[in-house]
Amino acid sequence: MVEKWKNLEDCVWKRSLRTWDKNQLNEIFSLIQQISLEERQDSIKWSASPQSYSSKKGYSIIMGLDNSGVDEWRKIWNYRIPPKILIFLWKSFHGVLPLKKLLKERMTGVLDSSCSLCAKDDETREHLFWDCQTVKSIWSTFFDWWNISRSVTQRNGNFFQIIRLVKGTELKIAWSTSVIALLWTIWIARNKLVYRNTKWELDQVIWLVKIRAFKWLQAANKRNMGLENFWQVNPRGACLLFNKKHRRMDYIWCNSTVIGFSDGSWKITNGGSKRSGIGGCITDLEGNLLYIFSGPCLANSPLEAEREALLFLFQRIKDNSNLQGILTLCTDSKIVRNQ
Ligand SMILES: [Zn+2]
Repeated sequence: MVEKWKNLEDCVWKRSLRTWDKNQLNEIFSLIQQISLEERQDSIKWSASPQSYSSKKGYSIIMGLDNSGVDEWRKIWNYRIPPKILIFLWKSFHGVLPLKKLLKERMTGVLDSSCSLCAKDDETREHLFWDCQTVKSIWSTFFDWWNISRSVTQRNGNFFQIIRLVKGTELKIAWSTSVIALLWTIWIARNKLVYRNTKWELDQVIWLVKIRAFKWLQAANKRNMGLENFWQVNPRGACLLFNKKHRRMDYIWCNSTVIGFSDGSWKITNGGSKRSGIGGCITDLEGNLLYIFSGPCLANSPLEAEREALLFLFQRIKDNSNLQGILTLCTDSKIVRNQ
């Protein structure tokens, strides 16, 4: 088609072309001519959406009906999260949470619309859940927990964009659940401050986010008890191990008496300095926690951090007679595992 449709005159038409036909055809030709052909097998592609083509999707694009938000919501309604939290989320997105700016606009007698946390700006959804300085530090710690670049916090706080930051089916559910737990925890902490004058601590808020997300995932059978402590240190690793345990249970768990999890993290901060840390835990076969560790280290590379975490784990096992036995070691570093 691209080869043949070089120009209008080369084509044979069923009827004579009118001026507007020619204009439209010239447009089509110029589009076709931008295509360069390669020596490869032809295949049908539909670039308008990640799913395959459907007449419904095609129709909604032609008619300008964007139903991607509807699809996203459909997925969120299917999350096994307490319904009141999903309703909170829905209300937040539809601008009906009783935030001060809204109350001032709709109710007589409400004079103050300033943020309940910082009092520096109007309390809108965007400010309270994303832009507020107090909340920014929570997001920053939260992203660190999931090992996501801090630069993300500079972008806008669109919920659907944030939940797309982590890929992979199981990881994505755990990540989205964590984000929802964070929004809910900010809301609860804000209400406690407003109605009970209870001040909030960053560590406490983050701890609650981790616990809530884990409990919801656990209720949905997406995590099990033994990984709770590991989840607090490394949520990605916990998801990975949980899936491995389910898929390859016999292979991973059959002969050992203790199971050790180790993980290292390493990054260069915006200021150029290096930050690294190690974390992990040791459990018995039932998943009962025997030992847990996390903290900074002096590694100069991601691999060194993984090695340090592993060496720390070995040293603790060596030092502690209660931890002796056949060890199954779980690490997400292929290189360290193969060494
Ligand atoms: Zn604020």
